[in-house]
Amino acid sequence: MENYDNISELNGIGIKYSQLLKNIGIKTIEDLLTHIPYRYEDRSNITKISDLKPGETSTVFGVVLKIDNVFTRNRKKITKAIISDETGKLNLIWFNQHYIKNSISEGSQISISGKLDLKNTSKQFVSPQWEIIKNDKAIHTTGIVPIYSVTAGISPKWLRNKINETLEKTNIPNLLTEEIIKDYKLSDRNFAFQNIHFPKNLEDTILAKKSLSFEEMIFLHLKGIKLRNIWQKKTNSHQIKMEKEDLQKFKKSLPFELTNSQQKAIDEILSDLSKKVPMNRLLQGDVGSGKTVVAAASVLAAAQNGFNTIFLAPTQILANQHQASFRKLLPDLKTHLITSETSKKLDIGNETKTPTLYIGTHAILHNLDKLNNIALIIIDEQHKFGVGQRTNLVDFYTKKLVPNVLTMTATPIPRSMALTFYGDLDLTTIDELPKGKVESKTWIIEDKKRKDAYNWIKKQINESKTQTFIVCPFIEKSEVEGLDNVKSAVDEFKKVSAYFKEFKIGLLHGKMKNQEKDKVIDDFSNKKIDILVTTPLIEVGIDIPNANIIVIETPERFGLASLHQLRGRVGRGDSQSYCILIPSTKSHESIKRLSNLKTVHNGNKLAEIDMQIRGPGNIYGTEQHGFLDMQIADISDIEMVRTTKKVALDLFENISKYQLPRPHGRGMLKCSPISHKVLSEHYKGILEKLDRITYIEDN
Ligand code: ADP
Ligand code: MG
Repeated sequence: MENYDNISELNGIGIKYSQLLKNIGIKTIEDLLTHIPYRYEDRSNITKISDLKPGETSTVFGVVLKIDNVFTRNRKKITKAIISDETGKLNLIWFNQHYIKNSISEGSQISISGKLDLKNTSKQFVSPQWEIIKNDKAIHTTGIVPIYSVTAGISPKWLRNKINETLEKTNIPNLLTEEIIKDYKLSDRNFAFQNIHFPKNLEDTILAKKSLSFEEMIFLHLKGIKLRNIWQKKTNSHQIKMEKEDLQKFKKSLPFELTNSQQKAIDEILSDLSKKVPMNRLLQGDVGSGKTVVAAASVLAAAQNGFNTIFLAPTQILANQHQASFRKLLPDLKTHLITSETSKKLDIGNETKTPTLYIGTHAILHNLDKLNNIALIIIDEQHKFGVGQRTNLVDFYTKKLVPNVLTMTATPIPRSMALTFYGDLDLTTIDELPKGKVESKTWIIEDKKRKDAYNWIKKQINESKTQTFIVCPFIEKSEVEGLDNVKSAVDEFKKVSAYFKEFKIGLLHGKMKNQEKDKVIDDFSNKKIDILVTTPLIEVGIDIPNANIIVIETPERFGLASLHQLRGRVGRGDSQSYCILIPSTKSHESIKRLSNLKTVHNGNKLAEIDMQIRGPGNIYGTEQHGFLDMQIADISDIEMVRTTKKVALDLFENISKYQLPRPHGRGMLKCSPISHKVLSEHYKGILEKLDRITYIEDN
C-alpha cells in the first residue's frame, strides 16, 4: 500500500522542503490541507489599465509586451516589464529579482496585483504580485487570495501552489454523517477544504470554516468522551466513606467558616469518593479561594478509612508550605515530606500502619514502590507536570486498585475550554473568595511616574510595615533585540536596592539554589526582607499574609489570567492590597488590554477576555503550548462548543442509529490521499472503542 500520508509523497517536495514544512508543523498531507490561511486578500477587482487610480491596490490582466533585466548605475538589479490590455499600457518594476525574467516570457497572459504609482505621467507598479495565467485560473493575484503563515525558504506562492495542486488531486470524503451535515447547515468536506483555501467569495469561506471547525470539535469531544468512558469502566476503586458527624467535627475545628463553594466542592468530592468508580475530578479556583481546606477534607476521609494519600506539589517551596497547612488543618494526621533532599534516605518503616499523607515534589514519583495503600492522589497545579508524569503516577497504582484522583489548579480555565479539553474529568469550580477578603486595587503607571510609585511604596512600608513584591518577566536582561526593554530581576534588584537604601531588599529567582531560595523565602516570611524582587516563580506558592503590594514590571508580556494569578500573591491577609503595573510599552492596545485588570477580579473572566483579544493560544504561558491542538476551530466560540458537545454525546450514545459515512471502494481512496489518514486516525481510533467498526479498508 502506498503511503499517502507523508508530505514527501507529493510531487516536488523533497527532503529540503519536507524539513522546511516540518518547521511550520506540516508533516502529512492532512497537515498541509489544514494549514489554513490566517487571512485573505480580496484581489477580485480586475481593473482596466485606463481606470487605475494612484494609491489603490488593484489587479490587472494583460499581455506581456516586453521584459528585461537591467543594472542601475550603482549596480542594483532591476527587472522591467511592460504589459497591456485593450485600454493601455502599464510599466512593471522589480528590484533584486532577476529570476523573474526566466518565469515570464513575452506574449504570455499575466495577472498583476499592486498599487499604481505615477511616474512622469507613465503608469507603473512597483514590485507587484504576479502570476502567469494558465487555463484562465489564477490563484495568487485574482479573486480572494489566501495568505498563509510561512517560514524562511518557503514562499507564500510556493505553498499556495502546493495546496492548490493537492486539492485538485484529492477527493475528500465526508467524515460527518449526511444527517449532521444537513441538520447543522454544514458543507461537504470537499467543498469546505476547497473554499477555506480558494474561495470564490467570503461567504463560502465562512461556511467552509464553520464546517471544518464543527467537525474538528466533534472529534475532540469524542476523544474526551471516550477517555471518560474508559475511566468510568474502571469500577474497582477504593471506596471511602465519611460519616456526617465526622465532617461536622472537621468543619467545627476550622478557624473559619467554609464558603458555599467550598462546601459544595467538599460534598461533590466526598460523593465521588464513596463510589466504586474512581474519582477523577478537577478542582479549579482562583488563588486564595481556599482549595487546600477542600483537599484536607478528602485527605481526612481517606485517613479515616485507613488509606494513605499522595499530595504532589510542583515546587519544594510549595510542598513545605502545604505540609505546614495540613498540619494546622489536620493536627492528628501523620504527614511525611518527600523531596529530592529527603528521598535518598527515605525510610517509610512501619509507617504504613498509620494512615499517612505523603506530601512532596517530583521526587515522589521515584519512590512509588515504597508508598503503599494509596487510595487518593492529589495533584496541585496539574499543568506543571507532564501528562506522562501524571499518567505514570496513576497507572502505577491502577495495577492494584484504581486510585481516586483530585487535580487542583488556580489556572483559570474558561468553562468552554474545560469542557472540551478535560472531557475526561469532572469539574468543580470554587468561584467565590472567602468572606472578608478584599479585592486588590490595581493601577497602571507610566514608566515616567515610577518615582511617584516608589515614593508611595516607601510611605506604605514606613506607615504600615507592609511588604512588597516586585515581579519581572526575566531573570537577567535579554540580549535579544526587541526583548532588551523587558525588565529583569537581577537588574531591578540593583536599581531598587540603590533607591530604597533604608529597606532590606531580597532577590529570588529560579537560577538560585534551593537552599538560597528557602532562606530568602524564610526571611521574607519573617519580615526580615521588605521588598522582594523576583520572577513569576512566585506565581505558585508563597503565602505571605503581610505582603500587600505587588509591582509587576513589563506586564504586557503576560496573559491577563497570569497577571491575575500573580496579584493573588498579595491580599492573603485581611487588609487592602495593591497591584501596580508598570508597562514598558506605550501601545494603546496593550494598555487597554491590561486595564481589564482594574475592573475584573475573576480569573475565568479574564481568561475569556484574553481569549477574545489574543486568541486561545495565548491564554497560558508558553509552557503550555501544545495544550490546544486545534487547527481550525476557535475554542472561544462557546456556542459551537456547546452544540458540538451535544452532537458528539448523541453520536457516542446512539451510534447505531446513525448512518455513518462508509468511504470504502477504490474509487474514493485512489485519488484521496488524506482519506486514509483521516479514516484511521479519527474514525478507527474513536469507533473501535465503541465496538462498531463497520467499514473495511479494502486496499
Ligand atoms: P488556594 O486556593 O490558593 O490554595 P488556600 O487554600 O491556600 O488558597 O487558602 C488561602 C487562604 O485563605 C489561607 O490562608 C486559608 O487559611 C484561608 N481560607 C480558606 N478558606 C477560608 C474561608 N472559608 N474563610 C476564611 N479564610 C479562608
Ligand atoms: Mg494552593
